[in-house]
Amino acid sequence: LQDAVLRLRASRLPSVSPEIERLIDLLAKVPGLGRRSAQRAALALLKKRDGLMLPLAQALNEAAEKVKACSTCGALDTLDPCAICASTTRDPKIICVVADMGDVWALERASVFRGKYHVLGGVLSALDGVRPEDLRVGKLVERAAHPEVREIIIALNATVDGQTTAHYLTERLQVSDVSVVRLAHGLPVSGELELLVDGTLLAALSS
Ligand code: ZN
Repeated sequence: LQDAVLRLRASRLPSVSPEIERLIDLLAKVPGLGRRSAQRAALALLKKRDGLMLPLAQALNEAAEKVKACSTCGALDTLDPCAICASTTRDPKIICVVADMGDVWALERASVFRGKYHVLGGVLSALDGVRPEDLRVGKLVERAAHPEVREIIIALNATVDGQTTAHYLTERLQVSDVSVVRLAHGLPVSGELELLVDGTLLAALSS
């Protein structure tokens, strides 16, 4: 019975207007929100029209219009080159390769890395059909060939796909005159870089 009640609560609401239903459908696609949370979020938005819904709609519009991937490193920013690529206080000799923008945020939160980044845009995956040409690999090889760059740190998750990608990148970067280091050693298996506590990141990076 409890299962049936839960299923009922999570299911579509009868007699709800298509506009509200569409709002719930879209919110339910946000990672971390299930259908029930999406219903709660939609209700909160509708109740707080001026204080929440309209500012959120405006913020979404502005982000959609202004935020783009940096043409050098792939990080999300309103500037191109992004603030990190353009920074003169960060060490251009070291590039840290990560899968996703969330990993950049995790490393920046921990303040353990002062070089530049390269955001791949995912990892290779046979299951999900992600091939090297779907990721920012060519641009990384190009950046690695720049005489200024001395070291590439590959900071991918210790998952099978993450390690396959790290191996592939190590091979691809053999041609250039840089040392390639893999951060993944010592990271917990199936550990997501983004979820690691700052101390673990620090230990992994300094090793
Ligand atoms: Zn950049």
